[in-house]
Amino acid sequence: METIDKASLRQRLTPLQYHVCLEEGTERPFTGEYWNHHEAGVYACRVCGHDLFASATKYESGTGWPSFTAPIAEESVLEKEDRNLFMRRTEVECANCGAHLGHVFDDGPRPTGLRYCINSASLQFRQGP
Ligand code: FE
Repeated sequence: METIDKASLRQRLTPLQYHVCLEEGTERPFTGEYWNHHEAGVYACRVCGHDLFASATKYESGTGWPSFTAPIAEESVLEKEDRNLFMRRTEVECANCGAHLGHVFDDGPRPTGLRYCINSASLQFRQGP
């Protein structure tokens, strides 16, 4: 996230948004803005506005975090190995700015079998087709 001015993000983001996006934090389940959100539209990066996920791929995972079967485009996110908690997970970042979004697991539904488990705090929804 070298290209983003962290001081200005401190001003613009809530403390939780900052913690999740810049410090790889995780919001508490069932507390975020979007885990139970069902409108049609696009979820963009909270930091840079880059389009990340479409509502058509959102599904009820029961985890309390917004869950998607795929990003809006393959190149819209970056996936990185994450060993922070003594387990191997795959971290998901915004491909445009590097903001932390969440993790991807291989226990999702068809058609991809993937579960992109994403923090509401990393996202900004906009309605649309
Ligand atoms: Fe971004």
